[in-house]
Amino acid sequence: MKIYKFGGASINSLERIKNTGNIIQQNAGQKLLVVVSAMGKTTNALESVVNAFFDGRKEDALHLFEQIKESHLTLVKFLTNVHWQHAENQLKDFFTEIEWLLHDNPVRSYDYYYDQIVCCGELFSSSLLCNYLVEQKTNAIWVDVRDIIRTDNNFRDGSVDWNFTGKSIGENIRPLFDKYDVIVTQGFIGSTDENESTTLGREGSDYTAAIFANLLQAESVTIWKDVEAVMSADPKLFPAAVNMPHLSYTEVIEMAYYGAQVIHPKTIKPLQNKNIPLLVKSFLDPTLEGTVIDGKTAKKLPPVIVIKNNQVLIQFKSKDFSFVEDKPAEQLHNLFDNIKISPNLSQNTAISLLCCFDNKEEKVAQLAADASDIFDVELEKNLSLITVRHYDQQTIGQLILDKVVVLEQKTINTVQLLVRN
Ligand code: ASP
Ligand code: MG
Repeated sequence: MKIYKFGGASINSLERIKNTGNIIQQNAGQKLLVVVSAMGKTTNALESVVNAFFDGRKEDALHLFEQIKESHLTLVKFLTNVHWQHAENQLKDFFTEIEWLLHDNPVRSYDYYYDQIVCCGELFSSSLLCNYLVEQKTNAIWVDVRDIIRTDNNFRDGSVDWNFTGKSIGENIRPLFDKYDVIVTQGFIGSTDENESTTLGREGSDYTAAIFANLLQAESVTIWKDVEAVMSADPKLFPAAVNMPHLSYTEVIEMAYYGAQVIHPKTIKPLQNKNIPLLVKSFLDPTLEGTVIDGKTAKKLPPVIVIKNNQVLIQFKSKDFSFVEDKPAEQLHNLFDNIKISPNLSQNTAISLLCCFDNKEEKVAQLAADASDIFDVELEKNLSLITVRHYDQQTIGQLILDKVVVLEQKTINTVQLLVRN
């Protein structure tokens, strides 16, 4: 049994849904659990619905939702024939659930409504895809993942209850493979013990695939993407970027930590724990080898470059030279915890601490204000953080050619450069 995960780009048009259907059909003999994201930019569109609803702009919310409905209804017409009525009814049931809510007034938290509304993107796309597969005579069944993946009620960032989820996978998913070749379900979403929908954080569908793989002891997970493989850098910025056919779990965790948008960072641990390989493959050309990620150490890797733009450097300077003691550092870290902001890079000097953060305007302003009780605070914005793993001098030289380096940190494997552009 294998897990396939298809992202929003692999199902964002009629052609692409058909292509995804073909990939699934050709491999259905191996028993597949298919995890899908919402189509294309549906999640962003649903976020706009939530914002309008929560701002009290009910008409806007309904109007925006109408557009999302239309695009799915159109696709279902083209993708199904014999099963069209069933497929359309299934979509309409989901629509009703959301519209009910949109007619109410918000009385609970933003995050709560976010999850109740945004979760439908994955319900729509998975239902579409499954009905198309059935129409094509694949022996497939649709499963509402909210009956399977249990989380706490930390809306927008639900923590998975592994015990409950493991049990429900054993009882409700495993037996389905006796009857069906393909199970189609949703990434990114789950539900609480009170049947409220939850989400696992943006881009969380990769993580869902890993949860299923871990609990079903799958043979492998394949993430189907619109790239040939995991690359050593963003080819739009670095034309010399190359494909990397093999990476270790550790390497991928490191890359994700430094900001590479390869795979959702939570994905690796559940796979590493059960030694399940993760394959990244191109849905545009499945014959390409892609990337295999597993427990083996990768042979010599090229310099891997990750860039994070929109960074802010904050210097916290002790007002009375007291930085050498532990207390001020501890106070600062408490502040970071309270504001829920963590530095991407930090460096001590005798009387100051330099930290680089993603420039989340509100949090940064609050941090600067709160810290100014204890420290002199200086701020520089519009910086970029360049991380190079497996660096060499030549690569670094090219990267900083027309830039000023304001902070640098090196270990044997990794160099990080904070630069002014
Ligand atoms: N649809 C969700 C998002 O866009 C989850 C995912 O794509 O993995 O964030
Ligand atoms: Mg996505």
